[in-house]
Amino acid sequence: MSDANCIFCRIVAGEIPATVVARNEHALAFRDLHPQAPSHLLVIPVRHVDSLASADNTAELGAVLSLAAEVARAEGLAEAGYRVVTNIGGDGGQTVQHLHFHVLGGRQMHWPPG
Ligand code: C5P
Repeated sequence: MSDANCIFCRIVAGEIPATVVARNEHALAFRDLHPQAPSHLLVIPVRHVDSLASADNTAELGAVLSLAAEVARAEGLAEAGYRVVTNIGGDGGQTVQHLHFHVLGGRQMHWPPG
């Protein structure tokens, strides 16, 4: 399932350019256009899912999260550590309504994130 009005579905379809770094059966990883850390990747399900709040396929979620760990290893982040975060809805700060996990690393992360 794909949403023609969804920017990330259009990235999956190759209609909008993105620097794709990895993929598996269910997930795609690409570099964030506006990086907030030396390494900032987005990992998304290939299928359109609005957010984690409506995710209902555990195999798909597992594939997305394992790809997040894989790209973090490939970026050389595993030893120093990194952050994986997903924003949900307005208060969560979600601006693109297609589930995505941010993988951020290469600098010290802070808490609380604000
Ligand atoms: O969590 P949130 O919805 O705010 O994150 C959306 C992210 O998608 C932003 O970090 C933004 O830079 C990124 N983005 C992108 N490529 C696009 C559109 C948005 O990397 N074409």
